[in-house]
Amino acid sequence: MLSTMQDGQLSLARLLRHGSTVHSEAEVITWTDSGARRETYGEVGKKAAKLANALRGLGVTGDQRVATFMWNNAEHLTIYAAIPAMGAVLHTLNIRLFPEQLVYVANHAEDHVVIVDGTLVPLLAKQLPEMKTVKHVIVANGDASTLEAPAGVQVHSYSALLDAQSDEFDWPEIDERSAAAICYTSGTTGDPKGVAYSHRSIWLHSMQVCMSDSMRLAQGDKALVIVPMFHAMSWGLPYAALMVGASLLMPDRFLQPKPIAEMLEVERPEFAAAVPTVWQGLLQQLDANPQDISYLKEVVIGGSAVPPSMMHTFQERHGVTVVHAWGMTETSPLGSVARPPKAATGDAAWAYRYSQGRFPASVTARLVGDSGDVLPWDGESVGELEVQGPWIAGAYLGGADVDPDKFHDGWLRTGDVGKITHDGFLTLTDRAKDVIKSGGEWISSVDLENAVMGHPAVAEAAVVGIPDEKWDERPLVAVVVKEGQSVTAEELRDYLTDKVAKWQLPENWTFVDEVPKTSVGKFDKKRLRAFHNEGKLDISHL
Ligand code: AMP
Repeated sequence: MLSTMQDGQLSLARLLRHGSTVHSEAEVITWTDSGARRETYGEVGKKAAKLANALRGLGVTGDQRVATFMWNNAEHLTIYAAIPAMGAVLHTLNIRLFPEQLVYVANHAEDHVVIVDGTLVPLLAKQLPEMKTVKHVIVANGDASTLEAPAGVQVHSYSALLDAQSDEFDWPEIDERSAAAICYTSGTTGDPKGVAYSHRSIWLHSMQVCMSDSMRLAQGDKALVIVPMFHAMSWGLPYAALMVGASLLMPDRFLQPKPIAEMLEVERPEFAAAVPTVWQGLLQQLDANPQDISYLKEVVIGGSAVPPSMMHTFQERHGVTVVHAWGMTETSPLGSVARPPKAATGDAAWAYRYSQGRFPASVTARLVGDSGDVLPWDGESVGELEVQGPWIAGAYLGGADVDPDKFHDGWLRTGDVGKITHDGFLTLTDRAKDVIKSGGEWISSVDLENAVMGHPAVAEAAVVGIPDEKWDERPLVAVVVKEGQSVTAEELRDYLTDKVAKWQLPENWTFVDEVPKTSVGKFDKKRLRAFHNEGKLDISHL
């Protein structure tokens, strides 16, 4: 029997119309070198219409790709709103990609237009001549005349283009299954892989972001969105904010601990989202310059494992609750969120919060063992996590031949290794490629990192496996000591004795100024291993 229900399309044109009318008074607040500049969602809606008219004027039709090379700011939100709503496809270029990768993704996605922030023009200009399909570059928040156009490319000023347009646009009906936006994985091996989100997947994902068991974004909230709009769609926060009328506080290029502390002080958001390394910097800044941040109801942290010590510092020193979440570019990115069951209290509740979280109804998960057997959810069996659902990628852009190993029988192989409790809480122990195999047993690099980062003198610790004649592999710990503090390898090893199994205690330690990071701020273990292989690390063997 067919249902009797209408078949309205879950399109981002509907989302934009809704956000810019029903929530016309919500704001996008952009941080600048002279404080905040504000724009309402009503104004964003009008500018989105102007942008869509301008792009039509430049000949953008159908599902042509419009790329951004931008910080998190009001203009980027306008572009997020306008491009999919007009039926074109948004491609958020990661401004921190290596030049060859940047050229690769622009050519692979066949970007037709690039909208670039004025401050980023020098970074883009070098690679622009190699971006074969780009015909138009639009410079926002800056002077378009600073960009010398390569042959066949026209350069425009964003504000001049928009000024000449009507603030109304006849947003088309769009099939909810068509592509709305593309993000490339920041994979440290091989070429980046493209994920094309659909209007439908973004819509459903936005609803999930707002659910109270999830990120709980709600009308009237002000959310500080540090996670870049070019990384996994800023965890879905911009579209979710338009859906429910939450305001967005956008840090633009001011991503260092000091300006973040300033924007917190001035704007007092209730909610914030970023990867652990950003918070590590902010917590150190707050240690040196104490400031009340207890107006933050919650801080969502994901992208890498959150050390329990960070959660306790937030809670006990600042009165702020950390919500741990797991996801990946291929999962839109929301996969799981760690909110303890209501009945759990005390240490039991903390144990749930340390985990990567619980799967929502739309994310179906399973664990697969080495021999392909599906493992039980007993909180102990460890295997590779596989997921499926309506906002999970079923293939990479380019078709089934691109990295076919990642997908099988309708499941996405995440490459993450962990265990799941009977009630659906995931604990990751590693990336499959980062697990340390020592004497036939596995050592979790994440467990070791969390344990070392619990030491009060340690700012950051990254652990990789290095070859060992006797054990195959042993852990090497790279430690960044907090400013003004000191600690030795022996002291750290002693500190670990009651925290990890004796055979896991690392004997190889190195002290570094900084752990190398990927383009999205995660520990770059591949580079750390390369530093080791090239003999660049000064190692103490205990
Ligand atoms: P990306 O596609 O760049 O967002 O990277 C996704 C990967 O980041 C996942 O497959 C995990 O390996 C890692 N990741 C994301 N969130 C977490 C988390 N909460 N704990 C541990 N690893 C995480």
